[in-house]
Amino acid sequence: MQERGLLIVFSGPSGVGKGTVRKEIFEGHGHDFDYSVSMTTRPQRPGEVDGVDYFFRTREEFEEMIKNGQMLEYAEYVGNYYGTPLTYVNETLDSGKDVFLEIEVQGALQVKEKVPDGVFIFLTPPDLDELRDRIVGRGTDSIDVIDQRMEKAREEIKLMSEYDYAVVNDEVSKAAERVKKIVEAEHFRVDRV
Ligand code: 5GP
Repeated sequence: MQERGLLIVFSGPSGVGKGTVRKEIFEGHGHDFDYSVSMTTRPQRPGEVDGVDYFFRTREEFEEMIKNGQMLEYAEYVGNYYGTPLTYVNETLDSGKDVFLEIEVQGALQVKEKVPDGVFIFLTPPDLDELRDRIVGRGTDSIDVIDQRMEKAREEIKLMSEYDYAVVNDEVSKAAERVKKIVEAEHFRVDRV
C-alpha cells in the first residue's frame, strides 16, 4: 500500500504575509507538495482566477457544502466564509502526495482536532510594530479596522503554542526556504518512517 502523504497546515495571524510566502514556495522549486485551493464567498479580486486562487462560491453553495460534511474546516473571516474542501485533500493524501493548506488560525485549530499528525507551521511577524506597518501599507483599512486586526493578531499569536513550528517572516524568500526544510525533515521523523 502506498504511504499516505503529509498534511501541511501553514497558518498565522492576519496580515503576516502567509499568501506571499505560499506563492514564493509554489512559484519556486524544491517543494513536492500540492496546494489545496480553498473555497470562499468573498468577491473575486481583479486578476484572481476561479479554481486557481480560490473556488468562488455563493453563501448558499458554501453552506450546502458544510451541511453535507464536505469541508475539512471552515471559518468566517471579515464577513465571508473560507474553507478547505475535503475530497481533494483526502484523495491527494491517499495517493501518497503531501498537501499544503494556507489557512487562518481558527481553521488550523479545527484541522488539528481532526488530523493531529499533520504538520502545523505558524508564520510570525518579526514583531508587532512591523505587522502594523504591513497592514497600514496595504492601504485598504481605516484606523479602526487596523486596530481591530491588530487586536485579533495579538490573540492569534497567543495560539502559537498549538503549532509544531514557528517561522519568522523577516524576509519572504527566507521564510519560504524554512517552510520547505521543515516539510523535508518531517519525512524523516522516526515515528513516520
Ligand atoms: P484573503 O481574503 O486575503 O485571500 O484571505 C483572508 C484570510 O483567509 C487569510 O488569512 C487566508 O490565509 C485565509 N484563508 C484562505 N483560505 C482559507 C481556508 O480554506 N480556510 C481558512 N480557515 N482560512 C483561509
